Amino acid sequence: MAKLILQSVLFQGKKQDILISEKKFSKVGQPLTERDREKAEVVNCDGLAIVPPFYNGHCHAAMTLLRGYADDMPLQEWLTKYIWPFEAKLTNKAVEIGTRLAVLEMIKSGTVFFADMYWRREYTMKVVKEMGIRAAIGVTFAENLDTPEHIEENFDFVRKHLHESERVQIAVMPHSIYLVGEKLFKRCAKIAHEEGMVLHTHLSETLKEVRDCNKQHGCSPVELLDRYGVLDENLVAAHCVHLTDCDMSLMADAGAASILNPCSNLKLGSGIPKIAKMLDSGMLLGIGTDGASSNNNLDMHEDMKLVSLLAKANGRADTLPACEVLNMATAHGAMAYNIPAGVISEGFLADALLLDLKNERLNPLHNLESNWVYAADSSAIHSVICNGKFVMRNRHVDGEEDIVKEANACALKLAGK
Ligand SMILES: [Zn+2]
Repeated sequence: MAKLILQSVLFQGKKQDILISEKKFSKVGQPLTERDREKAEVVNCDGLAIVPPFYNGHCHAAMTLLRGYADDMPLQEWLTKYIWPFEAKLTNKAVEIGTRLAVLEMIKSGTVFFADMYWRREYTMKVVKEMGIRAAIGVTFAENLDTPEHIEENFDFVRKHLHESERVQIAVMPHSIYLVGEKLFKRCAKIAHEEGMVLHTHLSETLKEVRDCNKQHGCSPVELLDRYGVLDENLVAAHCVHLTDCDMSLMADAGAASILNPCSNLKLGSGIPKIAKMLDSGMLLGIGTDGASSNNNLDMHEDMKLVSLLAKANGRADTLPACEVLNMATAHGAMAYNIPAGVISEGFLADALLLDLKNERLNPLHNLESNWVYAADSSAIHSVICNGKFVMRNRHVDGEEDIVKEANACALKLAGK
């Protein structure tokens, strides 16, 4: 098994040698022996610092093809006039090409995992396997689009792909309470529970969703899921913009996680999640980008900084300090999807970013975490490691020029340009 030594890398304020073997961090913060060094590839990391990478808890990867296609209009008009007609034209190949562009962008901005809710999942999975990062690939359910046959095919797919591969997990993804009814939602939760998979859904994203739910069911969307009996530690809910105090304590008590997507929420005019209150409730919070048609990028760093700033909108500057929001975007995101990663520590999976200490935004170096969270952007990322292997080295990803060219040609053709 390949061994890697990151030599003289800055970690916790001092230069150290870190050993990666068996795809895990095997020695951090202690001297390496001759035996450790045997047959290891040594990488000189002088001038580089190591930090955990990002885990993107909510995304629709192939929607990169729709980046900049339609913006700045009300949600309903945006969906019905532009997004849905464009998506109806997407082929298997287009999903593959769009996902490749998404994964390239994510790697270059320091992300090694994404949870993907989309269709034609085989093609998303193919790209993830090829490009060396991790994903939770969604089996997506939406009753307005799926025929009964599709729904049964989805359940068959779940059963056949229980433990897909070491970097890819399957997650059961009923789209939302407004596109999936009680019976199907319960069935999704049951299979996810039985097979130890994550159940992922959009939840309380817009005021319309909350009002409609109250009108139809006499309760909030979170209370509805509680009533269905599916609110537990298996549930990872995206958005949660409009939670009541009661919703928050229900989710915290159940151990359900929430993924914040503030760039998308602000751009679509959906609102601002009550981050400080959510933190106080004890909920597990991660961060996601959502799709590139509503963000419009997949840069977790931007969302991380925004989460930290919006949390302080309660008037208290000590809410969610840099180290805590960094944890949210890294370790807590990994935890929500049951991945033992996101921490540079012995026994954890070897996922990491190497930051270039020469980058102007990382200087002067009073405090690396502060500089990384509040000052820097992805241009400070020198290299990205996932599962003990470099997926970007010295800012280069294999095949990147062709990926961009192919995505551009495909998107313009689909748009009829
Ligand atoms: Zn979404």
